[in-house]
Amino acid sequence: MQQIEQIVASLRDEGFRITPQRIAIVNYLLKTEDHPSAELIHKVIRKRYPMVSLSTVYKTLDLLKEKKLVNEMDVEGEARFDAHTDEHINIVCMNCGKIDDIDEDSLKEIQVKAARKSKYLILKSSFELSGYCSNCKSKFQG
Ligand SMILES: [Zn+2]
Repeated sequence: MQQIEQIVASLRDEGFRITPQRIAIVNYLLKTEDHPSAELIHKVIRKRYPMVSLSTVYKTLDLLKEKKLVNEMDVEGEARFDAHTDEHINIVCMNCGKIDDIDEDSLKEIQVKAARKSKYLILKSSFELSGYCSNCKSKFQG
């Protein structure tokens, strides 16, 4: 789990101006489990910082991505952001686009087995499960 202090320090090292708006963006990303889009991040941050522009949000996200502090993923053509860069499994609702994290203890086990079988040195993995979330599934179950 990343800490806000580490992220801010690493942005400052890059010579990036640390503004309260940018800290708010990072903080929100660390706290939320919603895997928000840039537009949603903008909407949330604007409540406290009405002057923050969508382009500031994009620029901050680009930098965080470059520093590998957030993951960007594509959900049905929309970019969504996740500051939880520890290995985990995402599960995506195919109806409403909700994304949850699943802490999967057996992820390591899968890697060990795959490494043994393929003789690869495995450095990272990403899994995505899709389906219908608890709110949506009733619409799709007979
Ligand atoms: Zn859903």
